[in-house]
Amino acid sequence: MQHRKVYLDNSATTVIDSKVIKEMQPYFSNIYGNASSLHCFGRQAKIALDDARMKVAILLGANPEEIFFTSGGTESDNIAILGILSACLKKGHIITSKVEHHAVLYLCKHLEKIGYEVTYLKVDKDGVVLMEDFERAVKDNTLLVSIMHANNEVGALQPIEEIAARVKKINEKRKEKIYFHTDSVQTAGKLRLNVKELGVDLLAISAHKFNGPKGVGVLYVKNGTSILPIVFGGHHENCLRPGTENIPGIVGLAKALELSNDKIEEKDRHVFALREKLKEGIFNEISDVVVNGSGSKAISSILNVSFNYVEGESLLLMLDMNGVAVSTGSACASGTTESSHVLSAMGVDPVAAQGTIRFSFGHYNTQEEVDYTLKVLQKVVSSLRSMSPVWNKKKFDKKKRNMYNDV
Ligand SMILES: *Cc1c(COP(=O)(O)O)cnc(C)c1O
Repeated sequence: MQHRKVYLDNSATTVIDSKVIKEMQPYFSNIYGNASSLHCFGRQAKIALDDARMKVAILLGANPEEIFFTSGGTESDNIAILGILSACLKKGHIITSKVEHHAVLYLCKHLEKIGYEVTYLKVDKDGVVLMEDFERAVKDNTLLVSIMHANNEVGALQPIEEIAARVKKINEKRKEKIYFHTDSVQTAGKLRLNVKELGVDLLAISAHKFNGPKGVGVLYVKNGTSILPIVFGGHHENCLRPGTENIPGIVGLAKALELSNDKIEEKDRHVFALREKLKEGIFNEISDVVVNGSGSKAISSILNVSFNYVEGESLLLMLDMNGVAVSTGSACASGTTESSHVLSAMGVDPVAAQGTIRFSFGHYNTQEEVDYTLKVLQKVVSSLRSMSPVWNKKKFDKKKRNMYNDV
């Protein structure tokens, strides 16, 4: 049977906007110069590169010389953290959170192995770090704070402005500055970002999360920041990220960021309405479900739900057979039976976490797609539960209880 396809995995990646493809096209064919070459082929590429840098700078509230193009979110996070630490004279202390993306989390685990001290801030049940924990974590030898803007599994928004204000205050009384980096991969193109308003020193974004191409990202580095490269080579990107620039990708990133910032509030309302519709539908139609996070302190695009008495992987596969694409608790955790580090930090019961699905919306999704998803969900959840011994025992016990109550 031919059925429709519904893509609800926009936090993993997004479809490329056709306008972005169109913008990139010439840079795959006739405008192929190396932006470092002095002839007209090179100059054409350089113009595109400068133009993209200017566009991105304006959209992020930065200066063009503060914008560095990279190969994506993972690389931007790594350059930010390793680059800052490598410019510090001594090893020291880093503050991050328990719910970071693996690009930051696994890097911090590595840093611990090579002699750095790391504090992983805990989060509340909504996935948000607490300011008082942050205050308590700061030490004399703290070099860097890296806290994500929005979480990729549950959407929780962290108090970035507040942390930045606090770091600024602390820095007034110190000789060596504490730098503040944020992984903004899940908020770029969804919220209007302004690096000055956020108050951060470094910020990472990735094009493929906002309808741009894969393999290209940006690292914003505030003027005056002491940072060193982590890869060495040519003079590209002011020596911070050597290697011939990916001009088609960079042009695509700039276009995608521009397009996603157009009517951004309207798109956000649309995405929010889709999420609320699915959430309410699930609550109304399916019993024994828990929504993780996604309260008022979360981005609109993510709905993370634990379906009790169901295995997440099985649910994902059955949804997929019906044309609905989602993730389990975390895209990166799939293939393992380990519980998601984010859900476990939020205190979600490990058994419930096994039945967790992440639905993530994009502005291309429609109300009809949500209706279809709900229909499929009802069908597959009840079919999986009917096969679950735990579920059947629960039903049996309930029936027994009711029988005794009737007596
Ligand atoms: C996707 C993602 C990344 C990694 O970005 P890539 O461009 O895929 O390397 C980093 N952080 C967060 C929060 C993400 O969602």
